Amino acid sequence: MAVDVLAIAAHPDDVELTCGGTLARLKAAGYRFGIVDLTRGEMGTRGSAEIRGKEAARAAEILGAEFREALDLGDGGLRRGREEELAVIEVIRREKPRIILTPYPDDRHPDHRRAGQLVTDAAFYSGLRKLETAHPAHRPHQTVYFPTFDPQPPTYVVDVTPYIEIRRAAMRAFESQFHNPNSTEPQTILSQKDFLEMIESRSRQHGALIGVEFGEGFLSRRPPRVDDLVQAFSGFEPGY
Ligand SMILES: [Zn+2]
Repeated sequence: MAVDVLAIAAHPDDVELTCGGTLARLKAAGYRFGIVDLTRGEMGTRGSAEIRGKEAARAAEILGAEFREALDLGDGGLRRGREEELAVIEVIRREKPRIILTPYPDDRHPDHRRAGQLVTDAAFYSGLRKLETAHPAHRPHQTVYFPTFDPQPPTYVVDVTPYIEIRRAAMRAFESQFHNPNSTEPQTILSQKDFLEMIESRSRQHGALIGVEFGEGFLSRRPPRVDDLVQAFSGFEPGY
């Protein structure tokens, strides 16, 4: 059975930190979604691929994903040659998403940048009928980008206020990565005490753009259709 949305990012936990609230919201609206991690996170300073795999599975369950799987395209040097492209095309064709969520293809972290580029290209090539793979051609309606490290200004924002607790719980599933006073592993940006607060402050900032408490911002080559222009800006800070 096809999914409506496929979230594809570089590392286990990328999706939770950027669009977890949106996925929880889609689930509540009756949509089906899957998560694909392009790498197993084996180069992470803390934890291991096995630990992160278990955490990722738990987080996916909390968000309500139909499935989560990891490809093995090389953490800390994500490859995006033809072989990797075909691997992503096969997942897209198999799951037939209408929308793909992926990192904005320009970012400080090269794996995030490459992930966004790889997925953008694969989503297009996936629609080529004469490119034969195990599944028939399928082209999603739109590839939608979420900012990761670089605070790329969003062009639209999803209100995730009612889903923030689900997102928090999904993030907390990654015990090895985030702040844990009992851990003896080296500190990283992610494991600093204020990292999750920083992530939430970004959600607050995106939320403030649309007059709600928590939001998740996105960008895409085409804007989404707006049916009610007046309603679209109601509740916003006036004067823009
Ligand atoms: Zn990442």
